[in-house]
Amino acid sequence: MPYLPTIGLEIHVELSTGSKLFCGCPVSFGGEPNSRCCPVCTSVPGTLPVLNRAAVQYAIKAGLALNCEIGLFSKFDRKNYFYPDLPKAYQISQFDLPFCLDGYVDIELNGEQKRIRIERIHLEEDAGKLVHDGLDKYSLADYNRCGVPLIEIVTKPDIASAQEAKAFVEKVRLCLLYAGVSDCKMEEGSMRVDVNTSVRPVGTDELGTRTEMKNLNSIRSIVRCIESETARQASVLDSGGRVVQETRRWDDNKGESRAMRSKENAHDYRYFPEPDIIPAEFTQEQIEALRASLPKMPHERYLEYTGKMGLPGSDANQILESVALADIFEDAAAISANPRTSASLIIVEILRRLNDMGLSPEQIPFDGAALGKLVKMMDERQITANNAKKVLTLMFETKDSPDKIAKDNGFAVISDVAGIKSVVSDILKQNEKAVGEYLAGNAKTFGFLMGQCVGALSGRADPQVVRAVLQELLQKGQD
Ligand code: ZN
Ligand code: MN
Repeated sequence: MPYLPTIGLEIHVELSTGSKLFCGCPVSFGGEPNSRCCPVCTSVPGTLPVLNRAAVQYAIKAGLALNCEIGLFSKFDRKNYFYPDLPKAYQISQFDLPFCLDGYVDIELNGEQKRIRIERIHLEEDAGKLVHDGLDKYSLADYNRCGVPLIEIVTKPDIASAQEAKAFVEKVRLCLLYAGVSDCKMEEGSMRVDVNTSVRPVGTDELGTRTEMKNLNSIRSIVRCIESETARQASVLDSGGRVVQETRRWDDNKGESRAMRSKENAHDYRYFPEPDIIPAEFTQEQIEALRASLPKMPHERYLEYTGKMGLPGSDANQILESVALADIFEDAAAISANPRTSASLIIVEILRRLNDMGLSPEQIPFDGAALGKLVKMMDERQITANNAKKVLTLMFETKDSPDKIAKDNGFAVISDVAGIKSVVSDILKQNEKAVGEYLAGNAKTFGFLMGQCVGALSGRADPQVVRAVLQELLQKGQD
């Protein structure tokens, strides 16, 4: 029997604030275990949490970037459960009054747009990490991550396939990167996805029983997990069984999942208002100020790039992959008034150099103004396209401006025709035999003579001008 999958996601994203949610301990990845902890984040009795203002602002910015309504009155709640990665035996989270509600993200798949609704985004503290690997009779706890600010983005069950889930997670990631609230590094765990999946027979409306797969940390494993779980549930139903509501663990190496525990419901957590933190209240003006502080989101930029700037969609998407590249592109395009050449230098030349050098776009050692200047030099024929590539290489190695590099290395084009003429006429004198053959009707020798001239000018002259001069002088010889 054919089935339709229904998928909802819960995405946990660590916020890149300087300090943790309720104490002054620094937020950063890795490090010596338990070196970034204090009595508050290790839950020593008697300590009190102090709410980090920046974390609240980041959570609200995330909500605005994902088209949410922001609640003007929010509070924190205790979510009670015991697991040794969170020693106080409850997590400070938000239950019924989260910061952000009713958002959405539009995804595009095979040329069609679809809106995925976001139910809520709440702010909570992250837990620590347990280390089991290579240990026999015990586990070790690292509390460095304890208390790192975390937002949880909960979607409506609007996702109907693994590919839609992939498009959604990629879009959310990009929006949060542009909003500047997280580095969204899935491989480092700063973005982790829980997948809720159910299937129902085609032609029916009632949703099937769902299962949950927790903490997927790559797009690839999200896609594989949804495909595998959809097939598993379908075969359970086909063989007359029923799907059990449970949390399953996805094993990315084996490409399969197994049951972990039966799924909790919200009432299992005994939520109650957190008595140590006063509710958060905002004015509409404060929310609007945060909205105004957000940079342009990727979909807005996409429309500009593919609209008035005339880039193909695939080029626009490639640049938009990175905030750093998008900013460099926009500055270069503005200064050179040539978005297409700016984009092609970034996509063809700069990305290749970054790849060769193992650098990320954030590490590009020059700004968009410098790149724009180089494009302008090309457009004004002060430099050939070939030498522009050499200048670009040197821009990675030196901190110099493109015009200084061109000048220092003799890349500046010989633009006066008289100068080119004298070089070309010397070449013709040195190659009387070839000239004679050309004049006798052997057109092939033109290419040879052209090669000699370009070589003598060492790439500093526009080949079109050299060709014209060569033709003109040979013509004279004919007369
Ligand atoms: Zn701390
Ligand atoms: Mn959570």
